[in-house]
Amino acid sequence: MAKARVLILGGGFGGLFTALGLSNSSDVTLLTDEDHFLFTPMLYEYLSGEVEAWHIAPKYEELLDSDVHVVVDNATAIDLNASQVTLEKGDPLKFDVLVLAVGGITNYVGVEGAEQFTIPFRKIHHADRLRSRMVDTLDHVPPDFAPQDVRRELTFAIVGAGASGCELSTKMADLLLDAMKRRALHGEPRVLVIEMGDRVVPGMGEQIREFVEEALRESRVEVHTGTRVVNVGSDSLTFEHQGVREQLKTAAVVWTGGVKMRPLIEQLDVEKTSRGLLKVKPTLQLVQHDNVFALGDIAFFPDAQPTLAGTAQLALQQAGLVADNVKSLTAGRTLDTRHFEELGEALSLGTERGAVLLSGGQAFGGALARQARFALYTSRLPTWHHRLRVGASWFFEGTAPRPLLPLGLER
Ligand SMILES: Cc1cc2nc3c(=O)[nH]c(=O)nc-3n(C[C@H](O)[C@H](O)[C@H](O)COP(=O)(O)OP(=O)(O)OC[C@H]3O[C@@H](n4cnc5c(N)ncnc54)[C@H](O)[C@@H]3O)c2cc1C
Repeated sequence: MAKARVLILGGGFGGLFTALGLSNSSDVTLLTDEDHFLFTPMLYEYLSGEVEAWHIAPKYEELLDSDVHVVVDNATAIDLNASQVTLEKGDPLKFDVLVLAVGGITNYVGVEGAEQFTIPFRKIHHADRLRSRMVDTLDHVPPDFAPQDVRRELTFAIVGAGASGCELSTKMADLLLDAMKRRALHGEPRVLVIEMGDRVVPGMGEQIREFVEEALRESRVEVHTGTRVVNVGSDSLTFEHQGVREQLKTAAVVWTGGVKMRPLIEQLDVEKTSRGLLKVKPTLQLVQHDNVFALGDIAFFPDAQPTLAGTAQLALQQAGLVADNVKSLTAGRTLDTRHFEELGEALSLGTERGAVLLSGGQAFGGALARQARFALYTSRLPTWHHRLRVGASWFFEGTAPRPLLPLGLER
């Protein structure tokens, strides 16, 4: 396969970093439905204006050498036997080697009204929509409203108290509190995080949970564990706790309650786990298709710590292996495997704090952890050039949040 056509499907952590690893070595096409990468761990900071879109969502043309052909289109079907991917707009793309890295989609677990009325939080435009909703809601609260009326109007619910729900709720609560002070509104906003399980950040250790719980308290987020959302309406949410149902009027409900497979992957007739994840060999090749690799959120890789499943840090590490193995496959060499490590966790908790869990198990929190998170994530951004530009911007221009100003003053 001297001039093998390598098609990478998806430009997230798995796809982009595979493309970067393959640059200058093969005939590579990156097929993606957006023109930019997204560094998802900092989407919370984008919501609060601590970072800007160009920092965390650079265009592919800025990141990739011109020898990687980028096609912005939506893949609608994959035919592994015909070695072809069908596109929504353009002509089908043929491949010799296919890399599947399309990630997951929001899982609404069948809750009535959830898909229609909640705001997901996975993309730049989701964060834009949420920020606009927060501003719009604030703009409609009259300055003379009594505290209980303000609280009712400014009720925001976040479904799911995993890392995402806790990071988002503390960020939203801090932003709203700050905006209320600036607008001289009476009382406090009401931000709830609703979780079916019995504790917040269920997949994380006790040490980091303490920092998360403290941040939730300090940001005055109401935590409802052991609670199930049963229905979402255009301006309401119904939840159930110990058999008792309660309905709330809501300004917005944000859904961070889980991830599931895309129909594009569900349609593939290959070996999968009971959750629909693609089974891969230790080389990250599909079990019955040696010329097809899968990685990131859609792949089940047994030799990775369970806590790594569904994380950017796993997709990023796997991308290095896929790039090396694609080169080996096309050169006729033996393919490799690797053990993937837990690289630690860094959470953003409100606009002033963070929490960091080091790979050795030690955790620390507060303002220092917020700074450490910025430093850590500068090093994980794609390409040296982008890291330097962003690092310089954060260092010289700062990372202060952008207040929720009235609509005419927002930018
Ligand atoms: C808000 C948020 C915060 C997160 N924070 C963290 C964190 O702090 N640490 C951590 O480790 N993980 C975090 N994650 C999880 C992490 O983002 C994922 O595990 C990681 O992105 C998975 O990488 P991936 O390559 O499998 O998929 P993705 O990064 O999701 O990339 C998939 C890409 O494929 C594209 N695509 C999908 N379908 C098609 C199609 N049909 N045609 C063309 N293109 C398509 C998508 O647009 C996307 O660009 C977070 C996720 C979110 C949403």
